[in-house]
Amino acid sequence: MEPIFTPEQLIEIKAYHLPWYIRSAVLPMVNLGLLLLMLGALNKPYYRFAEASAARLNNRFRGLRSAPVLRVFFRVFDRLWGGPGWGAALIFALALQLTFTILLSPVEFYFSYVLEHRYGMSTYTPLRYFIDTVKTVGMGCMLVACLVFGLYGLARRTRRWWLVLGVPVAILMLVASSLIDPYRGRLFFDQQPLEAGPLRTQLTELLARADITFADIVVEKTSVISKRVQAYFAGQGPTRTIVLNDVILREFTEGEVVAAVAHEAGHVNESKWPNRIASSLALVAFLFLIDRFLRLAAARGWFGTTQFADIRTVPMLMLLLFIVMTVFAPISAWFSREREREADRYALRLTGDPATFRQMLVKAARVNKMDPEPPGWLVFKGMSHPPIGERVASIPKP
Ligand SMILES: [Zn+2]
Repeated sequence: MEPIFTPEQLIEIKAYHLPWYIRSAVLPMVNLGLLLLMLGALNKPYYRFAEASAARLNNRFRGLRSAPVLRVFFRVFDRLWGGPGWGAALIFALALQLTFTILLSPVEFYFSYVLEHRYGMSTYTPLRYFIDTVKTVGMGCMLVACLVFGLYGLARRTRRWWLVLGVPVAILMLVASSLIDPYRGRLFFDQQPLEAGPLRTQLTELLARADITFADIVVEKTSVISKRVQAYFAGQGPTRTIVLNDVILREFTEGEVVAAVAHEAGHVNESKWPNRIASSLALVAFLFLIDRFLRLAAARGWFGTTQFADIRTVPMLMLLLFIVMTVFAPISAWFSREREREADRYALRLTGDPATFRQMLVKAARVNKMDPEPPGWLVFKGMSHPPIGERVASIPKP
């Protein structure tokens, strides 16, 4: 059988991936260094800056506190925080977040814009890239605000905050995330229903054979930023949406699109509950761990903290999260790769057409410029899919 890439193409693929591999090896170390810097040298000056800025803002906008509508707004935040002083906490946490964003932005720009353009993978215009960056940074800031009021605010007011916060969020993760799922893509891309025609008919038949109900098949216009092919299922049961990007419709034959959707269909039937229950329990356990560390910090006066759930412990929380994620990434990636292998086997059973499935994988590898044989340590560290070379090789010969 012909190989996925010619020797010349393989040289280009390796050259494209090398910087990514270096990044993957170095970035965790950089992140760790930055976190330690924030915990050590930068904690005190940042806190002083936050307090001074909050005091200045308070003086300048004193009138706003009693303004008609804003009054309610201020009262809500006072209540969430359990008193005044949330301004300094919010500024401290946002300053940390923005420092990380700004320091890592050259690396981020090189990888998501420069390198992608150099290898013809990106169609980002500078304007669109700028807008998407602003959206992402904005979402990061919202998340920080949620952390400040949701976690710290609650911890300051409630004794068993980790249960009060953990249980509803865990339930929300179990139930709601799959319901919200289909709408996430729309934040960045335009989506339209796949028009009626032979492809839609074939996909509908395939999903009927697989006994999978769905709300719609939509086309997501990702070609405005990228040349990669993509297909995924979002949502669940009545909200399940089959999402194909416009690139896959352009690059793949109908049979190949059907093969790709058959693989995605394999993920529908896998048992999601063990995974979800495990992550919900892990979340509550992690919050409990944070609670213990917050108590320790308060008791010992770490980082100059004077009370429980002092905002100055944010870098410590980030460090805990970093450690937990680094340790668990290989484990969850291992399970993910097993699920991918099973989804491939399922697709082959469903379509009964190994030749087209193979073509589909080969084309995906070519269009997306995937490394057929990435280094073993990288796979172990957190690759969610088995190497494409392995996937192609494991298809039974006709
Ligand atoms: Zn998959």
